[in-house]
Order: sequence, then structure tokens, then C-alpha cells
Amino acid sequence: MEDKTITVTCPKCGIKITNTVSWFKKPGSCCPGCQLRLSTERFRRAIEAAEQAA
Ligand SMILES: [Zn+2]
Repeated sequence: MEDKTITVTCPKCGIKITNTVSWFKKPGSCCPGCQLRLSTERFRRAIEAAEQAA
């Protein structure tokens, strides 16, 4: 799979995070603004939406 760069808006603090899809899906990654884990349900939905829009 290609490693696209996407922008995801944090569902908690609202900052925009631009990084690769593989980084967003890496276990242990978290929001640089509020430290919310990217593996949470809310974040995963935002990541999926950004992937489809990319
Ligand atoms: Zn955040």
C-alpha cells in the first residue's frame, strides 16, 4: 500500500495534524496537541475519513 500524507483534525483539541497514513496507524502515536491516542475510536474515524478524501 502507498503511504499517503493526510491531514486529520483532532476530535478533542481541534488541531490539524499532517503526517503519513502509516504514522497515524502506528500503535502509540498520539496527538501532539492534547496527547489523545490515535488508536481511540473517535480518532480512527477521523483518520478513515481523511484517507477516503485524500
Ligand atoms: Zn488533540
